[in-house]
Amino acid sequence: MKVKTHDAVVIGAGAAGVGVGVALKDAGLEDYLLLERHTIGSSFAAWPTETRFITPSFPTNSIGMLDLNSIAIGSSPAYSMRVEHPTGREYAAHLKQVAKHTALPIRENTSVLRVTKVGDEFCIDTEDEILRARHVVWAAGEYQYPRLNGLIGSELCRHTATVGGYEELEGDDFVIIGGYESGVDAAYHLSQRNKHVRMLDSGCPWTKETSDPSVALSTSSFERMRESHFEQHVELFPNTPVVSVSRSGGVYEVATHDERVFQTSTQPLWAGGFVGSHRLVMDLFEARDDGFPLLTENDESTLVPGIFLCGPAVRHDNHVFCFIYKYRQRFAVVAKAIATSLGLPAERLEEYRNWGMYLDDLSCCGEECVC
Ligand SMILES: Cc1cc2nc3c(=O)[nH]c(=O)nc-3n(C[C@H](O)[C@H](O)[C@H](O)COP(=O)(O)OP(=O)(O)OC[C@H]3O[C@@H](n4cnc5c(N)ncnc54)[C@H](O)[C@@H]3O)c2cc1C
Repeated sequence: MKVKTHDAVVIGAGAAGVGVGVALKDAGLEDYLLLERHTIGSSFAAWPTETRFITPSFPTNSIGMLDLNSIAIGSSPAYSMRVEHPTGREYAAHLKQVAKHTALPIRENTSVLRVTKVGDEFCIDTEDEILRARHVVWAAGEYQYPRLNGLIGSELCRHTATVGGYEELEGDDFVIIGGYESGVDAAYHLSQRNKHVRMLDSGCPWTKETSDPSVALSTSSFERMRESHFEQHVELFPNTPVVSVSRSGGVYEVATHDERVFQTSTQPLWAGGFVGSHRLVMDLFEARDDGFPLLTENDESTLVPGIFLCGPAVRHDNHVFCFIYKYRQRFAVVAKAIATSLGLPAERLEEYRNWGMYLDDLSCCGEECVC
C-alpha cells in the first residue's frame, strides 16, 4: 500500500509550531500535520511555577498592532486571560485555546526521532510509524534541550530548566552559575523566600547597555533586581567565569578562573542555557560559524530544500529571533514559501503584512537598532 505524502509536517506544537501552523492554514494548506511529543505548549507548562513572561501582554489589536506575546492574528493572551505577564502554564493554556479555535491538525504524544530526505520527500520517523511529507518545518524549540554540560562537574548542578518550582528547592544558601534571564529569575524567586544567593557570571549581563533584550537583560528583570528582597539577599559576581564544580563531604565547591572557591551545602543551580533541538536535524542544514543553521531568506535549509526552521534558533546575520515577538515575524515568510512551492496563491498572508507579522526586509532592526 502506498504511504500518503502530506504537503507539510510541522514538528513541535509550542509557540512557534502553533503560530506557523495557523499561518499555513491561512496560506491555504489543507493536508498538513503538527506532531507534538507531549501536549500543546508543554515546554511552557514545564517552566517553574513562579516564572512569568518578561515581555508584557497588552491588547492592542483594535488599532492594528499585535500583543507582544501573540502568535496569531486576532489572538491576544492579555485579552483572553487578563494577565500582563502570564505564567508558563497560563501561556500553554492560551496556545491550546488558539489551536482549538483554529482547528489545527495536531497529533499529540508523537515524538519525532529522525528526519531524512529520500528523493523529493521527507521521511519523518516517529516511535510508531514513518510519515512522509513534501515540506518539513522544524519547530521543536530549545527548552526541552538544555545545555547540561559546559563546565567540569556541571552534572553536580541542577539546570534551571529542570526546576518545577522554587518552593521545592531545599536549602538557604544558593550559588547560581549564569546571570542572564533564567539566572536572574531564579535569584529573584529565591530572594522572595529570603534565601541567600550568590550569582556568578563570566561577563556582566546586569550592566550591558544595548536596546536588544536578546543580548541584554529585559526591563522587567532590571525592575526585579531593584526590589528590596533582591538587593538584600542576592550578591552579584560579574566577570567570574566558573571552571569547575566538585563535591566533597556534602559540600559543593564552585571554583572560578581567578582561583576563588564558593562553598555551599545546597546544590548549585546551572543557568547555562540550551543547546536546542536543531542539533537533531543539523545534518540537513549547513552550519553558520556560531553553530546555528544557515538559512535562505525564507528560513529554508541552504543544503536540503523543503525543510524550514521556525522559532528562537532562527538567525540571519546578527539578528537573533529568540523572543516570540521576533520569530513570529517569520511565520508568514515560511508559510508563503511552502504555499508557493505547492502552487497556492496564499493571498490571505498579505494581512500579516498589515499586522507587522511579515518581515521580509532584514536590513533594519539589528542588535543596537533604535528605530
Ligand atoms: C524562563 C523563560 C522565560 C521566557 N520568557 C519569555 C518571554 O517573556 N517572552 C518571550 O517571547 N519568550 C520568552 N522565553 C522564550 C520562549 O519560551 C521561547 O522562545 C519559546 O518557548 C520557543 O517556542 P518554541 O515553540 O520554539 O519552543 P517550545 O515552546 O519548546 O515548543 C517546542 C515543542 O516541540 C515539542 N518537541 C520537542 N522535540 C520534539 C520532537 N522530537 N518531536 C515532537 N515534538 C517535539 C516540545 O514538546 C514542545 O512542545 C522564555 C524562555 C524561558 C526558558
